[in-house]
Amino acid sequence: MKLDPHLHPVLLELATLERSQGVEVAAELPETIAAREAEAKVLRLRNAAGSAQMAVDDMENEILRIQADERKLRQRERDDKAQLGAEVDPERRKDLEHDLYAAKSRIADLMSELQEAHNEIHALRNNVEVHGAQLSEAQRQAEVARRAADAAEEAHANRPETTVRVAQLRELLPTDVLEEYDRIRLENGVGAASFNNRVCGSCHIQLPPAAVNAIRGAAPAQLPECTDCGALLVR
Ligand SMILES: [Zn+2]
Repeated sequence: MKLDPHLHPVLLELATLERSQGVEVAAELPETIAAREAEAKVLRLRNAAGSAQMAVDDMENEILRIQADERKLRQRERDDKAQLGAEVDPERRKDLEHDLYAAKSRIADLMSELQEAHNEIHALRNNVEVHGAQLSEAQRQAEVARRAADAAEEAHANRPETTVRVAQLRELLPTDVLEEYDRIRLENGVGAASFNNRVCGSCHIQLPPAAVNAIRGAAPAQLPECTDCGALLVR
């Protein structure tokens, strides 16, 4: 297909415009999709941060429980010692000594539980900090993405009436080119596309070297066709 080279950009603009009209019916703007994904990530991280904080709260309660138990046992230890100072009955002394031993042994267990809990809460608090930092970063990214989406949606809503521009562009193009363009567009949805870096802008396939050479070697007024999808290629 031949077309005056200075009309090549006209054909490309027409194809791009008509393609974007087709897209807007079916799909959301990429910025809108990106913003929604960024916001979903914030939600996931907020849940994870909440779980991490809950683990710290649980461990803090555990430490308080151990400390309360320890206080009771130390009191029992003191009571046993005081009673032993006054008790003379051998049977009663034996009971008190036994109880004192049990209290001391339980206190030793509690001390090692407490040490373990302190180690664990240290790791859990670090975890909360890591989650908090990740959440802040994700929130910042989500705000940026939301602003970009709002701007893109507004620009999209305020775009000039495309049908007017499409009609203007069609006026400029010869009938035979328009007929061929429309025929191909019915087949693959695009009709004409740019050709950059060996890649067809319609099917986005990198063409084989022989096809690339033929396309690059075609006369300037020529509109070569993509060997894969058939789109008219504008170099
Ligand atoms: Zn193609």
